[in-house]
Amino acid sequence: MIDPEKLEYYFRKNEKKNFKFRTFLKMHASDEEFDRQCRELHEKYYSEEFCRQCRNCCRKMNAVIPEEDIEKDAAFLQLDKETFMDTYLKGYDVFEDGYKAKHVPCDFLRDDGECMLGECRPVSCKLYPYTDQEGRLEGLLSMIDNTEICPVVYHIYEDLKKIYGFR
Ligand code: SF4
Ligand code: SF4
Repeated sequence: MIDPEKLEYYFRKNEKKNFKFRTFLKMHASDEEFDRQCRELHEKYYSEEFCRQCRNCCRKMNAVIPEEDIEKDAAFLQLDKETFMDTYLKGYDVFEDGYKAKHVPCDFLRDDGECMLGECRPVSCKLYPYTDQEGRLEGLLSMIDNTEICPVVYHIYEDLKKIYGFR
C-alpha cells in the first residue's frame, strides 16, 4: 500500500488524468458493473488492520456529528450534552447537516490512533471511504478527492484505470 504521506504528491501529479478518466467512465461504465468492480477492489485493499496504522482520514478531516448522535456520544464520554458540545464541536453546519468537530486532525482521534467515540462514531466515519457502497459512478468527484487522503481509494482508482484500459 502507498504511504499516505505520498498521496498529496500523486494527487497533484495525476489530477488532469484523474478527471479525464472520470469523463471516460461517465461515458463508458454502467452503474451496476462499476459498483461491483469497486466492491471487489474494496475487498482487495481495505482492511481494519491497515486502517489502524493509517488513520489519514481522521488526521486530514474531522467528524461531522449528526444532531441525533450528540446525546449518546456525550454519554459515551461520560459528559453532559452541553460540556460535550462546548468541548468538541463547532456550531451547526447547514451544508454538512451536523456539528463539525472543532479541529483537524479530528478532536476524537486519540494518540494511539483509536477513535474516542468507538462504536458511537458517526455512520459517515464507519462507511468511509465508501468504496463498497452503491452509487460510485455518481460519486466520482468525491472518489477523486479521496485519492488525496485514503490509500485504499488511491489504489482502487489506479486499478480501475487498468481494468478499463485507460492510459
Ligand atoms: S479509510 Fe483510508 S484513510 Fe482512513 S484509515 Fe483506512 S486506509 Fe487510511
Ligand atoms: S470521529 Fe473518530 S473515526 Fe470519525 S474522523 Fe473523528 S477520530 Fe476519525
